[in-house]
Amino acid sequence: MPFVTRFAPSPTGPLHLGHAYSALLASDRAQAAGGQFLLRIEDIDQSRARPAWETQIYEDLHWFGLRWPTPVMRQSDRLPQYRAALQNLWERGLLYPCQCNRRDILAAVSAPQEGADPAYGPDGLIYPGTCRHLNRPQDMPAQALRLNIASAAEAIGPAPLCFTETGEHPATHEIPAQQLIETVGDIVLARRDMGTSYHLSVVLDDAAQGITEVTRGADLFDATQIHVLLQRLLDLPTPRYHHHRLIRDDVGKRLAKRDDARAIAKYRADGASPGDIRQMVGL
Ligand code: GLU
Repeated sequence: MPFVTRFAPSPTGPLHLGHAYSALLASDRAQAAGGQFLLRIEDIDQSRARPAWETQIYEDLHWFGLRWPTPVMRQSDRLPQYRAALQNLWERGLLYPCQCNRRDILAAVSAPQEGADPAYGPDGLIYPGTCRHLNRPQDMPAQALRLNIASAAEAIGPAPLCFTETGEHPATHEIPAQQLIETVGDIVLARRDMGTSYHLSVVLDDAAQGITEVTRGADLFDATQIHVLLQRLLDLPTPRYHHHRLIRDDVGKRLAKRDDARAIAKYRADGASPGDIRQMVGL
């Protein structure tokens, strides 16, 4: 099987050392396997994505000497595909509209009778199900849509969900349906402001790009169980996953977009070479 991997940044800020590690690792692995390295621009969050950041992503990656086929896939061009997948899930009764905001959810899960502290999953607060049993309209509404995770777990049948991890801790992971119900809950698959979500888009895009191995940071490991479930529901292949270590700052904190001090552009301006950056991230 050919090896196809990708780097999928969101153009919402400058690329920093963590992104450099992810992109270089993906490209190195593709090269070593005689495979392909693809780029994808994850710009569904139009309130935060900026063309200038996208331009800078191309500049930084070219400066590293990375090459990828064009045109580059951009999520903002793929809203019809996301909608078609949502429509499919809607018609199978697996989605329901939700009107709750964060404050409503927090209030519901913190109600005194609940007793315990609010539980968090890979997607934030685990949804208490407030809107789950309200009447569903005939047509899919332009609202936030949640996946009924218990119905989804039933819809996929008894064959276990699993995926192969090839990162620093190689393993085959099995995902029990009960774990999804208890620790993930009814996640939002379409945000009202976007008409899609990170989870839905990433799964459809990895399949559309023919990705055989997803390269990404270990911070997304817990999201993978959601992606594997969606792949099964949508009849898409499950790629292998290579979750890599995170690059941390001097006090051990994971780098974030706001860590401009560690932006690649800043190192470039200060005269660093691509080799210097490789060394800094341990490649
Ligand atoms: N767009 C995501 C990010 O910039 C990466 C998503 C992924 O690799 O699955 O963090």
